[in-house]
Amino acid sequence: MALTGLQIYKLLPQTNCKECGFPTCLAFAMKLAAKQAELSACPYVSEEAKAQLDAAAAPPIRLVTVEGPGHKVQVGNETVVFRHEKTFYHPPGLFLRVKDSWPLEQVKGAAKEAMDYTVTYVGMDIHMDGVAVEADSGNPETFAAAVKAVREVTDRPLILMASDPAALKAGLAAADGGRPLLYAATSENWQAVAEVAKAANAPVAVRADSLDGLADLTEKMKGAGIQDIVLDPGVRDPAGTLVALTHLRRLALKKTFRPLGFPIITFPGEGASDVIEEAQLAAEHIAKYAGFIVLDRFAPEMVYALMAWRVNIYTNPQEPIKVQPGIYEINNPTADAPVMITTNFSITYFSVANEIDGSGLPGWLLVADAEGMSVLTAWAAGKFDAEKIAKTVKTTGIEEKINHRKLIIPGAVAVLMGEVEEELPGWQILVGPREAVDLPGYLKLWKSF
Ligand code: SF4
Repeated sequence: MALTGLQIYKLLPQTNCKECGFPTCLAFAMKLAAKQAELSACPYVSEEAKAQLDAAAAPPIRLVTVEGPGHKVQVGNETVVFRHEKTFYHPPGLFLRVKDSWPLEQVKGAAKEAMDYTVTYVGMDIHMDGVAVEADSGNPETFAAAVKAVREVTDRPLILMASDPAALKAGLAAADGGRPLLYAATSENWQAVAEVAKAANAPVAVRADSLDGLADLTEKMKGAGIQDIVLDPGVRDPAGTLVALTHLRRLALKKTFRPLGFPIITFPGEGASDVIEEAQLAAEHIAKYAGFIVLDRFAPEMVYALMAWRVNIYTNPQEPIKVQPGIYEINNPTADAPVMITTNFSITYFSVANEIDGSGLPGWLLVADAEGMSVLTAWAAGKFDAEKIAKTVKTTGIEEKINHRKLIIPGAVAVLMGEVEEELPGWQILVGPREAVDLPGYLKLWKSF
């Protein structure tokens, strides 16, 4: 829990020397508590006090980074239990598990298929984050060969899964750089795993069957010099994971219980008998509160749904998804192509742009900065009025690109037609359809308007 100003004051020298720029140590302490000053401004804080203040300032859930040569996944550093209280910051990494007991071609094929799968969703290219390689064979050399095979088809992060520290070591060497997550340290092997992790500066997942067991293990790992830790509470069924993951989030955030202030790893495939159940469980883990999700099955329709769900859960609920205001050219428009205007709410933009694109007809689409609101909402909020429309026309440079002066405004704001004409002298303002779906028919006729 963050310290109060008075608690911070007790850790300061209390000499009121003013070198920090504040008249008293108490005033400085109050600014520190409000995060409006840096501790380094006081040159006289003791090392012991510094350590206490730094520890109190550390995030309640540690940010853990897992890296491949070409990508990285960062999870943790969350600050709320419920998304609507603020937002969730770091989406969970989605990994596919392959096993070293499979033929190498199968390992490669499965990893490649999953890593190559990319979809465009509201203007973003989204994909899975990496591969978890499990040492199923019991042979470190076989494990290393599987890791190497995966590395040949992807530069995304890896999770190396083995209980044998020798296999983890071999896997790390075969991973050829990056910062894989090691899975898992348990009460039996934690010392040896900690040694391997420390030498490689790799994060480690710890697994125990109880929260007490997990807390005990994280303290031991910290004592061994490992700071980047991930938690596996050992439960796999839907109700059990929901309870355990909720407890972990609450203990970390509400009680600032440092031993459990780490991201969580889950294995939905182990609690599921088919792809549908695995997708359901993974969706639960995306909502509450996984940091890494290791899937056992890959099916495009499952992964698409999970990735789209993840985008939505990790979108700031107080900030709509927006597109960049400006001119969008659709189907190679020429100077005589129609000019339309809409707002920068992404769903509005994509609805309109897709209909124009699908019509096969060329068009210039102007996107006004309406703070990410849809047409009617923005109009009601005064963010998409005649002045804003005129400003968008004048500042985007559309006038230099066309040989006519006709502007199509959305049918939903037909009421603005007269005002826009006043703001844009010399322009003919046309009222387009209310619904984007009617745009193709409208565009076929627009020259006659
Ligand atoms: S510099 Fe340090 S000791 Fe001096 S007034 Fe500021 S907080 Fe107090």
